[in-house]
Amino acid sequence: MKIAENMKCIHGRISAAALRAGRDPSSIRLVAVSKTQSADAVNEAARSGQFLFGENYVQELTAKAAEVDEPVEWHFIGSLQSNKVKQLVDLVTMVHSVDRLSLAREISRQWGSRGKSCRILLEVNIAGETTKGGTTADALLTLVREVASLPHLRIKGLMTMPPLFDDPEGARPYFRELRRLAGVIAGEGIPGVEMAELSMGMSGDFEAAIEEGATLVRVGTALFGGRSR
Ligand SMILES: *Cc1c(COP(=O)(O)O)cnc(C)c1O
Repeated sequence: MKIAENMKCIHGRISAAALRAGRDPSSIRLVAVSKTQSADAVNEAARSGQFLFGENYVQELTAKAAEVDEPVEWHFIGSLQSNKVKQLVDLVTMVHSVDRLSLAREISRQWGSRGKSCRILLEVNIAGETTKGGTTADALLTLVREVASLPHLRIKGLMTMPPLFDDPEGARPYFRELRRLAGVIAGEGIPGVEMAELSMGMSGDFEAAIEEGATLVRVGTALFGGRSR
């Protein structure tokens, strides 16, 4: 595998995109999306200096985490059923994909039972695609207010997954809109709500996302190579 090489290349591209946008490259964190990749691939990436990983499936994550021996940090980025939240509580440091109050309630309940708070992002489905998770932009502010009232959560920002485009420029308006929405919410000054993080951009479009303000880019195939599913 060429993970170390790929990583170097991605970090170079992250830095270049940040500098183009007049941003500090260290304000952007790479989330290595390791879904379908082996624990060995995660260990190898960690030995090359990557310690933050994103996973989409609870069962896959719990099995893989048990086999990873490097000191890594996990973010959950996939669609999440409330009945699986319990399995994440001692495992992940952030959930990017909170899109409904019932899910937020369960996260708060489970983290609270351990005397902790969970850092979360609210996922916004800007294009309103029915095949994807995420709250609509219209419902976002109401959801933020409801979720902000829960005791064991810290809202850190927003996440989005735009429709797929061949041209990375196609996703740019969605990234820009997520940033605008974060600005609107920040302007409301809701207690306990921070809009510090924008999780947006994947292998095909992370540079455009960084130019539009991403602080967390979720990159899988550009780092690990292709996936079979
Ligand atoms: C798979 C996945 C990614 C990474 O996609 P790549 O195109 O492989 O970089 C990012 N975010 C989410 C939510 C994903 O499911």
